[in-house]
Amino acid sequence: MTAETGRWIRNFVAGQFVEPDENRSFDKTDPATGRVFARVHEADRELVDRAVNAARRALHDGWATTPVRERAALLRRAADRIEERFEEFVAAEVADTGKPVTQARELDVARALTNFRTFADVVAAAGQESFLTDLANGRQALNYAVRKPLGVVAVVVPWNLPLLLLTWKVAPALACGNALVVKPSEETPATATLLAEVLAEAGLPAGVYNVVHGFGGDSAGEYVTSHPGIDGVTFTGSSATGSHVMKTVAPRVRPVSFELGGKNAAVVFDDVDLDEALTGLTRSVFTNTGQVCLCTERVYVQRSVFADIAEGLAERARRLRLGDPLDERTTTGPLISPAHRNKVLSYFDLAEQAGAKVLTGGGVPQLGPGLAGGSWIEPTLWTGLTNADRPVREEIFGPVAALIPFDTEAEAIALANDTEYGLAASVWTNDLRRGHRVAQSMNVGMAWVNTWFLRDLRSPFGGVGLSGIGREGGESSLHFYTEPTNVCVQL
Ligand code: NAD
Repeated sequence: MTAETGRWIRNFVAGQFVEPDENRSFDKTDPATGRVFARVHEADRELVDRAVNAARRALHDGWATTPVRERAALLRRAADRIEERFEEFVAAEVADTGKPVTQARELDVARALTNFRTFADVVAAAGQESFLTDLANGRQALNYAVRKPLGVVAVVVPWNLPLLLLTWKVAPALACGNALVVKPSEETPATATLLAEVLAEAGLPAGVYNVVHGFGGDSAGEYVTSHPGIDGVTFTGSSATGSHVMKTVAPRVRPVSFELGGKNAAVVFDDVDLDEALTGLTRSVFTNTGQVCLCTERVYVQRSVFADIAEGLAERARRLRLGDPLDERTTTGPLISPAHRNKVLSYFDLAEQAGAKVLTGGGVPQLGPGLAGGSWIEPTLWTGLTNADRPVREEIFGPVAALIPFDTEAEAIALANDTEYGLAASVWTNDLRRGHRVAQSMNVGMAWVNTWFLRDLRSPFGGVGLSGIGREGGESSLHFYTEPTNVCVQL
């Protein structure tokens, strides 16, 4: 494919789209069909350098000191513009990911609006820390912290919920007066690029939001995170890449916020309302074809309801509708790429070698001819595995879960916490006291009771262990995207 036959996805630097270079570009394929539909201009070191310099200039030209109410108003206008171009964002997200159009509408693009509106409210309502200090001489001192933008922030994000995860960082970072160099995933370059148009339409000064496209190592991802002009890195992606980025940033001791992988547990007690729990578990295992960092891949079930939950969940998995992402009846899309499907399939083999019983799925589905080239996979459930088996220990990031029985509450807590990850957990019970108790004992950043992925964006989001460093959400975001200077005045 050439620039003449297809659509270009371009870099956006200093308020302008950059003329693409055919010699430095890559194909973008549709994961549902395998067909190439666009060509992406890969940023080289020099272009990344221009983006960082443009961001620095924009800060100095006044963006860093823009009044908070003006920044909040701009965020609201950005949300309004996304709302006006809603279906354009939906179409771009569906084309890049193959996700069902109903999900792109109800989750991905809807949350982008909420991200902008919430952080407009949060920043407008935020106060400053201050302390009156009693001194030995009978006088007092006033301490107050002024929060300043971090500066030029690198925003590196993955492909699973591209616009949702990007705006989750872009909205608070802009609210705090930072200038950004955004590196979307090579798999999903479209909505970050469309967002550049919307932010410009909303009145964002040139250079405050720059987009550079490309891969990770020895490409735009590394060029951005290793650039000496970057004052902080906010990263969402795999734990292995997070660890790598941390090393890249370490020599210059810059702050990082890391939202990384998960191997999340659900704990199901025998007093539960079976139907409600099954509805919730189905969502938590299979949403976005299991490609959500919060998705459940380990389901611990109290022994007396184990068979009911296993059969019920398998039955619901079989009812999922794989197919054309633009068909509103489709519930489940493909995986993002052939490489990712190979990874998930390798865990199907490992599970088989470990003696798993496949309750449902376990292979590649036969869909219509138009979809034959896509990265489709069957929703899959296993029993017969233990916490010692690799498919139960490692993040698979597909529509898969292992069901494992337990007898006592203490055993369930120990099993759920037996992991190097610590992102999210869900507890399913009708016993309120047990719900609170078990949720609080989960070694994770977010624990849900009788629900999953229910978010109030003012609450802290993040993980422990391999799942990340730091929290974003509400005031936690404002803290990451600013640096306080404490002023102490003797009165
Ligand atoms: P990934 O780590 O491969 O890539 C993430 C981003 O980092 C991409 O933009 C990629 O190009 C870039 N990158 C890769 N190597 C890099 C390098 N050496 N230097 C700089 N940048 C580099 O992750 P992925 O496969 O795109 O996404 C899936 C992963 O993301 C899963 O592990 C999932 O759990 C995690 N995730 C976490 C959260 C969370 O909030 N905790 C949310 C969504 C996804």
